[in-house]
Amino acid sequence: MEGAGVRLQRAFSNPEVPQFDPFLLLDDFGSGNPDDYMAGFPWHPHRGIETVTYIVKGAVAHEDSIGNKGVINDGDVQWMTAGSGIIHQEMPQKYDGETKGFQLWVNLPKKQKMIAPRYRGITSKEIPEVKEDGTVVKVIAGKYSDIIGPVEDIVVNCMYFDVTLKAEKEFFYSISKQYTVFLYIFEGSVVIGNDQEVGKSIVALTDSGDRVVTRAGKDGARFLFVAGDPIGEPVAWAGPIVMNTQKEIAKAFEEFHAGSFIKSS
Ligand code: FE
Repeated sequence: MEGAGVRLQRAFSNPEVPQFDPFLLLDDFGSGNPDDYMAGFPWHPHRGIETVTYIVKGAVAHEDSIGNKGVINDGDVQWMTAGSGIIHQEMPQKYDGETKGFQLWVNLPKKQKMIAPRYRGITSKEIPEVKEDGTVVKVIAGKYSDIIGPVEDIVVNCMYFDVTLKAEKEFFYSISKQYTVFLYIFEGSVVIGNDQEVGKSIVALTDSGDRVVTRAGKDGARFLFVAGDPIGEPVAWAGPIVMNTQKEIAKAFEEFHAGSFIKSS
């Protein structure tokens, strides 16, 4: 349970699995029962991170301290850089049918933790799709097959794709550096490496070698492909605030309670 009582599945969380650096957590929320999500995430602060919300199906109303207000709908993405501080709310709306969405937290390097907050709302229509034989890759961020995703000014270099494969089709990706790479399989199954078949909701850290090869199982597969440049700095984490030291965390909470948390508007 997170927020005011939203049932979700946390695929990973960095303090337990630091090798996911620069990613701090991945939450998977989805349900056919509005009671599981309607309580939402009322007003709360963030500092020192980016939150990336991808709504596969559903609707989430949001509002923040820098004046953004709207609804993220089916296929839309919200890429929010909290930087020095943002206060926002994220409230799932009643949806007819099964909802599905993800929130990824990307850490910010020490040098950029206190940058001005910014917000990018990307509609499904703005997300390019690369369709090849039996493969559809939605390029949310980063570059796939010469197509560059729509998210601009990403602080930490990363790739975020939504990949759909027909049965036994393969997905290839070349990684030129020592990126952190993970797959989050949410439909069907994939075969990674030689013969290791993994099904729904399993996060697989693949080798950060030169080439990632993933083959769909016999029912096809849909997964998030996420890769990013590790930051390699100490992580001090308290709820929605992630800094480098406990002192910085204490300061953030002091400022929040004193009403001086927001640095720019
Ligand atoms: Fe939030």
